[in-house]
Amino acid sequence: MEILKSKRASVLIVDDMIANIELLSNLLKDEYDIKIAKNAKKTLEICQGYEKPDLILLDVIMPDMDGYEVCKILKSNMATQDIPIIFVTSNDSERDEEYGLNLGAVDYIKKPFNPSVVKIRVKNHISLKLKSNMLEELSMCDALTHIPNRRYFNEKFEIKYRESIRDKMSFALMMIDIDFFKLYNDKYGHGKGDSALTKVALTLQKNLKRPFDMVARYGGEEFVIILKNIDKDGLKKVTQSLIDSVQKLKIPHEYSSVSDYLSISIGLSFKDIEENKPKNQLLKEADDMLYEAKKAGKNRYVLR
Ligand SMILES: [Mg+2]
Repeated sequence: MEILKSKRASVLIVDDMIANIELLSNLLKDEYDIKIAKNAKKTLEICQGYEKPDLILLDVIMPDMDGYEVCKILKSNMATQDIPIIFVTSNDSERDEEYGLNLGAVDYIKKPFNPSVVKIRVKNHISLKLKSNMLEELSMCDALTHIPNRRYFNEKFEIKYRESIRDKMSFALMMIDIDFFKLYNDKYGHGKGDSALTKVALTLQKNLKRPFDMVARYGGEEFVIILKNIDKDGLKKVTQSLIDSVQKLKIPHEYSSVSDYLSISIGLSFKDIEENKPKNQLLKEADDMLYEAKKAGKNRYVLR
C-alpha cells in the first residue's frame, strides 16, 4: 500500500561545499536516510521526483541559483510546498534570517553551528512533518477497507495522469463494481456486506504488483484502479486476473444470478502513448464500459 507505511524519514542536504555536506551527513545519517544535492538544479530534481524528502537543509549561497530562489520555487509548487525547509547559512544578519523565514522556511540555522542543536532542531521538525503526513494519510484512507479513498484517488489521478504523459507511457483506468451487492447486503446483512467489501478491496490491491498502479474505493461498492505503461493485451490479462481472484475468494452469494460466489464487473478505458484523451473522458469511458459489462451479463469486463 502506498499510504500508511512507516519508513525512516529522509533529509535532503543541499550545499555546494562537499565538506559541509559531509559534516551534516555524518551528524544525521544514523537516524535518517540522507539525500544530497550540490546545486539548485539537483535539489529541484530530487524534490519533484517520486520520493520526496521529509526535510531539506538548504544552503543559501550556491553558484547556480541561491537557496532563497530554490525555496521560492519549492513553495510555489503544490507538489513540493509541504516539504519543510531549514536554511543553513553563513548569512547571519537578522535581515537575512527574516527574509528566509518569510519565504516559508521553518527554521534558520547560522554557520558555524552547534551540532547537537542542529540535531534537535532537525528532530523536532521531522516529528512535526511525520505527524502532519499521518493526518494527511488518514484523511485519504477509507475507514472500512483501509485502502485509499476517493479523495486520495482524485489527487493521485491528476498527478499520475500527468506523469504518464511526461514519461510517454500509456495509461489505463478501471471502474469496478461488485455484482448484486445491494442484494447481498439485504440478504446477508451489513456486517457480512462490510466484510465482503473489505475482502474484495484487499484482493484488488494485492493483485496490483507495480508501484505506480493503485486502487481506491470510489463509492459504496465501487472501486477504481489506475495503471500506466501497459498495453491492451496486458491490461486484459490483469483485468481478467482481478475478476478471477474475486471469484476465488468463494464468498457465497446465492442470490446472484451469474455466479455462486460474489463477482465483480469492470469497465475499462485506455489511452495509448500518443493519444490525446483527457482525464474526464477516461473516467466517462470506464463508467460507460462498466455499464456495458453489467448489461452483457456481469462477472466480466468490457474494453472498447
Ligand atoms: Mg554555499
